[in-house]
Amino acid sequence: MSAATYDAIVIGAGPAGFTTAIAMACVGCHTAIAGPPHNPDPARPDTRTTALLQASVQLLRNTGVWELCRGHAAPLHTIRIIDDTGRLLRAPEVIFESREIGDQPFGYNIANTQLVAGLRARAEAMPNLDIIESKGATEIEPGDENIRVCLAEGQNLTARLVAGADGRASISRQAAGISTRAWSYEQMALACNFSHSEPHDNTSNEFHRKAGPFTTVPLPGRNSSLVWVETPDEANRLLGLGDRAIAQEIETRLQGCLGQISNAGPRAAFPLSGMSVERYAARRIALVGEAAHVIPPIGAQGLNLGFRDAAALAECAASALEKGQDPGGGDVLSAYDKARRKDVSSRVFAVDFLNRSLISGLLPLQAARGLGLHLLDGIAPLRRAFMREGLAPQSGLPKLMHSPAPAPAGVEIG
Ligand SMILES: Cc1cc2nc3c(=O)[nH]c(=O)nc-3n(C[C@H](O)[C@H](O)[C@H](O)COP(=O)(O)OP(=O)(O)OC[C@H]3O[C@@H](n4cnc5c(N)ncnc54)[C@H](O)[C@@H]3O)c2cc1C
Repeated sequence: MSAATYDAIVIGAGPAGFTTAIAMACVGCHTAIAGPPHNPDPARPDTRTTALLQASVQLLRNTGVWELCRGHAAPLHTIRIIDDTGRLLRAPEVIFESREIGDQPFGYNIANTQLVAGLRARAEAMPNLDIIESKGATEIEPGDENIRVCLAEGQNLTARLVAGADGRASISRQAAGISTRAWSYEQMALACNFSHSEPHDNTSNEFHRKAGPFTTVPLPGRNSSLVWVETPDEANRLLGLGDRAIAQEIETRLQGCLGQISNAGPRAAFPLSGMSVERYAARRIALVGEAAHVIPPIGAQGLNLGFRDAAALAECAASALEKGQDPGGGDVLSAYDKARRKDVSSRVFAVDFLNRSLISGLLPLQAARGLGLHLLDGIAPLRRAFMREGLAPQSGLPKLMHSPAPAPAGVEIG
């Protein structure tokens, strides 16, 4: 059987994979995406939501995905940080308002299932993007001229570039020979969605507790999502509770804000861990999403980083194609590695520090965190700079995240 040939093959059809495939197709790459459907087991639904920050929403707008997602997403205008550690060194409550830095919300929160459904619908409508449903890639063989991907069903594909979006246990990363540094925390994040009797006013409430943050993020209507970080024992106890009992626990932790809690839907718990890579691309393979970086779900950074990977890779490949060069060549891979290195490493460091400063019993760390929050509370220019950097790196964003993105020649965007 002769192998189907593409400019780029994306391995993994999760949110980062679809976003990458769509971005690549938008800049003119003949692209395939291969992998199992996201969340195939209805008995174990993906209970997570993603707070998509401004630049990620702009990427979805520029690639024609946003209109398929917008109706399922709630804007996020305010973030409240409440020190609920009960420690001696307590920080003040800090409120971040998006109107302090512009007329846009910080971002929009959407269920992962709705996000992936919107991405998939957009991908299905793109003539230069093939969706290949498969149990997965089993072999990836980089060569001088191209790279071969063998799927579990026996089909062979070739391309000049592979985007490895196959998650934490990425076989793309293995095929690229890229080594990792991985670590774990004695914490788990419980994720579920719930309804409440009081409006959320498009506000996220982040209670900083000794075991980790307890964060609600608005969803459309009187609904919110919850990421509740706990010790593994406590997370397992919470997972075992019935719907009424968990609603009661949530209500107690929320201390009256959001009113009565009901409809605490399916719940899942995710062990907290971290992973970083020694480089982002090698041997015709570029890593995106959790194949390239894993961080705890604190500060809504994980998938937003994955979206910036997708947009940066599309920009590097587009620039090569415009010059008639190889989109999987060494120059493209080096440019991609350079584009992602600082952004990813600074976020991995910041999220790790935030988490450790919260759970640590060490007074100097607690004091540093408290002082940071005091300064953010009291100094408006510092607070504004912090908000801007939290949304996106101020050192620059890929073109597909600009507002509005310049359309590459001959390519229709949207
Ligand atoms: C509780 C929680 C809340 C979070 N909230 C936020 C948030 O608000 N904002 C934010 O930015 N991030 C958030 N994150 C992080 C975010 O959920 C992840 O970054 C994101 O889901 C990772 O997506 P991905 O596509 O990289 O990986 P995955 O979703 O793991 O997708 C990888 C895909 O690759 C497929 N695959 C694996 N192996 C193969 C193979 N050999 N061949 C083909 N396919 C393969 C898998 O089947 C899967 O579909 C949160 C995380 C958690 C745990």
